[in-house]
Amino acid sequence: MAKLDHFFKDFNKTKLEKHIQELLKNYDFNQEFESELISDLITEKHYYCACHGLRPLRFRKEPYPGRCYNFFGFFLSLGWHPISWNQCIYPKSKENIVKDALRKAIEPDISEYKRQHPKCERCGKLSKEIDHIEPEFDVIAQQALKTLSHKDWESIMIDSFNFLIKEEFRLPDNNPALIYTLEAHKTVKLQAVCKKCHQINAEERKNNQ
Ligand SMILES: [Zn+2]
Repeated sequence: MAKLDHFFKDFNKTKLEKHIQELLKNYDFNQEFESELISDLITEKHYYCACHGLRPLRFRKEPYPGRCYNFFGFFLSLGWHPISWNQCIYPKSKENIVKDALRKAIEPDISEYKRQHPKCERCGKLSKEIDHIEPEFDVIAQQALKTLSHKDWESIMIDSFNFLIKEEFRLPDNNPALIYTLEAHKTVKLQAVCKKCHQINAEERKNNQ
């Protein structure tokens, strides 16, 4: 437990996250840099690195469409490897691991819709995001999670926690939650929105509940 104190005593989790976010703003994409703090955090808190004594020596971020960046650490034994510093602070639940994989699976649909609707469908400004009007993505994902058997969860846990695989975790094609989501997504009502109208949509939904 002493290790945990080392990080979360001076810094609570929110502060630590903010601090690292600020730190990362100092570096350009693809610029290599060292950070004792992030190295320590990963060595001590990452589910795989902590067990296997792995310590990243330096870091870089790469641009990734739709997200802030992809993050990589350089390990003597592995070379450059994707790593999430954020998950060392906030470990993901297995449900969220699956939800993220489902979100990734519908990305092609979303980008295609966005391509076809460059303007906000509410105000006509440039569209920035795609809103799931009906049903919301979370509703689909919740239903999808219910299709998973104990055995499905077991193999998800084994595959998603295999740190040595360099690709991002994806659900296999025959996974029932993936099949459910792709099918449900065929009839979903989407709307291209600017940031402001996305917020207005969310507020309206909340008020109508
Ligand atoms: Zn708008």
